[in-house]
Amino acid sequence: MAEPLLAERLARAIALGGPIPVSQFMAAANARYYATRDPLGAEGDFTTAPEISQMFGELIGAWAADLCARAGQTAVAWVELGPGRGTLSADALRVMARAGLTPAVHFVETSPTMRAAQAERVPGATWHDSITTLPGDVPLIVIANEFFDALPIRQLVKRGAVWHERLVACQDTLFLPIAGTSVPDTIIPPALAHAAPGAIVETSPASVAIMADLSARIVAQGGAALVIDYGYDGPAVGDTLQAVRGHAYANPFEAPGEQDLTAHVDLATLRLVASASGAVSWGTTTQGTFLRALGIDQRAAALGDGVSGDRRRLVEDMGELFKVIALTHADWPRPAGFDA
Ligand code: SAH
Repeated sequence: MAEPLLAERLARAIALGGPIPVSQFMAAANARYYATRDPLGAEGDFTTAPEISQMFGELIGAWAADLCARAGQTAVAWVELGPGRGTLSADALRVMARAGLTPAVHFVETSPTMRAAQAERVPGATWHDSITTLPGDVPLIVIANEFFDALPIRQLVKRGAVWHERLVACQDTLFLPIAGTSVPDTIIPPALAHAAPGAIVETSPASVAIMADLSARIVAQGGAALVIDYGYDGPAVGDTLQAVRGHAYANPFEAPGEQDLTAHVDLATLRLVASASGAVSWGTTTQGTFLRALGIDQRAAALGDGVSGDRRRLVEDMGELFKVIALTHADWPRPAGFDA
């Protein structure tokens, strides 16, 4: 029997228990969304960099091989968070194998549908529900492309001089955001404490928790992580919660579970979390600058005219909004693509 629509379940829950935090709405919507479909590509809702061109994953494979070679490490584990169809890993692992590097592959993925797609492209992988079960005895090379943007955010809205948790209420079948209970000023980043009334501030406790755990592992085990996502160096004021369906923007409070909900990622905060854990953080740079430093122009020229449009999408269309950060163990060298 088909599962009831998530919208009906959430509407009942809100009728019984009252409005729910934006973070809870977003977490429930995305869990249902990713569990029930493969959203990637022209036929789906959105297209990601590894689905645009094999050059993306190949350059990241070369990045990883170069870093491991300079670190003098051959026994590493390859980890991807939210690997989508597994395309990035398949392209990267092919390049790494040519450099003599054949790491064990670990995927952190909650969706059974996406796991099945990943198994087709990377048959030998091991799957994890969360990063807590990743191997603890080898250096980790961790890649997260368009992963953090899918994690739930909290929204805090200022009414007069007081900050409130933004909640999702439901009227009949219509979901809408409201200002809920007040929150203490101490949870607002100090730089934003004096924002104007009406301001919205976003935090992502789930992202911070994953980044802190990941950094602690890299500090303990060695290795590096590379995070690529659309976002900004915050904290900053702004409402970035967005929904995408069929390659167009939609109302994020409509049709929970049927469209992709994301928020822009605060990369400076993720770097701060990494540094606070004792890792070395790199960036923030842009995807365009990063891919150029890794040699995308030469690679595109070698592949011929057929890929010039793909190169343009990766380097120019996505080049500024998409940002790249890295973190490394203190004894590991500077990763390619980041200035000292
Ligand atoms: N990295 C891929 C896919 C990005 S879409 C690419 O660039 O093409 C987001 C991916 O993260 C999907 O595979 C989705 O199923 C997964 N995902 C979303 N929320 C997750 C969570 N909380 N834990 C693990 N994986 C998650």
